[in-house]
Amino acid sequence: MTQLRQGGHATTVINRAENAMQDEFLRTAVRFTTDRLRNKKQAVTETFGQWEAWRKRGEAIRAHTIANLDAYLGSFIDKLETLGVHVHLAQDAPEAMRAVRKIVQDKNAKKIVKSKSMVTEEIHLNHHLEADGIQIVETDLGEYIIQLAHETPSHIIIPAIHKNRAQIRDLFEAAGATNLSTETSALTAFARQKLREEFLSADIGITGCNFGIAETGSLVLFTNEGNADMVMNLPQTHIVVMGMERILPSLSDLEVMAHLLPKSATGQNVITYMSMITGQRRALDHDGAKEMHVVILDNGRSKQLGDPQFQAILHCIRCGACLNVCPVYRQIGGHAYGSVYPGPIGAVLSPLLAGGEEYSDLPYASSLCGACYEACPVRIPLHDMLVHQRQRQVASGHGKPLERMAFNGYRQMFAKPGRYHFALRMARTFQGPLVKDGKIRAKIGPLAGWTASRDFPSVAKKSFRDLWPTLQQGGDSHRQN
Ligand code: SF4
Repeated sequence: MTQLRQGGHATTVINRAENAMQDEFLRTAVRFTTDRLRNKKQAVTETFGQWEAWRKRGEAIRAHTIANLDAYLGSFIDKLETLGVHVHLAQDAPEAMRAVRKIVQDKNAKKIVKSKSMVTEEIHLNHHLEADGIQIVETDLGEYIIQLAHETPSHIIIPAIHKNRAQIRDLFEAAGATNLSTETSALTAFARQKLREEFLSADIGITGCNFGIAETGSLVLFTNEGNADMVMNLPQTHIVVMGMERILPSLSDLEVMAHLLPKSATGQNVITYMSMITGQRRALDHDGAKEMHVVILDNGRSKQLGDPQFQAILHCIRCGACLNVCPVYRQIGGHAYGSVYPGPIGAVLSPLLAGGEEYSDLPYASSLCGACYEACPVRIPLHDMLVHQRQRQVASGHGKPLERMAFNGYRQMFAKPGRYHFALRMARTFQGPLVKDGKIRAKIGPLAGWTASRDFPSVAKKSFRDLWPTLQQGGDSHRQN
């Protein structure tokens, strides 16, 4: 059962979703922003043209890369080491943290600036380094806002999707601003001035990476604020933390992703800053970190390799487009999932990475409508994967006992016509106290959640089979007339 400790109480995904459903502001904000992103994406892809062909090309590149990941990862690591970059392979989150901690200690670092990175959220990097007394400053505006609010991102691309300008102003005033208006320009001016000071005084910069190019050993980052360039270039040491699947074979493959990613993520034709670094600063370079480390994280990813049902989850390029179209995410936002990765991608990826019972509720937080697949620029069949997850849980005995009983009963009932008719007669006789205006309204028990927001028709006085002889007579008489 997915649980998150909040104020000392364990909460399930159902509790969190119910809380989110009560939050009118959150629901309006999430729907407004996801609508905007979705509409912009639609407009830009229509103008661009041949979108299906681009999606298929993207899928083919990612499928080929992941099918040959050992070779491409090996060549990427060789290139990095030839360029003098220190490579650290981490099997899991604690190993990744050990590698980062060692660098921080060796450099005697006190302050770190960071650009947005979901994989560092995955290993809870900020939390661990702050516990060591290190000051960490997020420099992406959205991440900076949620860091001040002591929250986690609620969307892969727009981490502070759930915050309004007045809330942001209050957070900035708590961080030292005075008499700040809620105008966007005033808010961003404060953040810009504050973050500039941080860039200049940081000992280490930490970034994620959108893609690592096997052919050249280059690391590629897409941002809209240019903050990642400051993080990579101003401190003396740069650490990149990346998932092992973020590899592309060559620069020509990057060209395809440079179309697919920004168009799908934010509806932008091109990303504002696409930064590519190949090795640390050389003797004649004017900028760049003097020392560079790349931490390559497995953390459950390699377990998906060779699995016909789930290998394709490693094709993901983290664009967030599946969140923007998901009818469940659009109602409850990202925090209700309780995992670092929200929405349809999170519902599949989080249980796979964590393994076992953790996040086992998430595959049920879906209507299986397939909108996520339609939106995905690399055509990952997330809706099929959600069904496979549910099948695995049932097969491994981790299904809910009540649900198992209900489906067993359902199977027994449909196995023989006599049982089916008997069950219908029983339901017709005993449904009385629950029926109101022709609908079943359960106040308690497992049906209560269902009928609270949906119509559950009562069992009709006469079944279609009972009516059939009369209908036939009516039909015959109609024909005779
Ligand atoms: S699953 Fe597809 S749509 Fe969702 S974040 Fe990954 S690449 Fe984007």
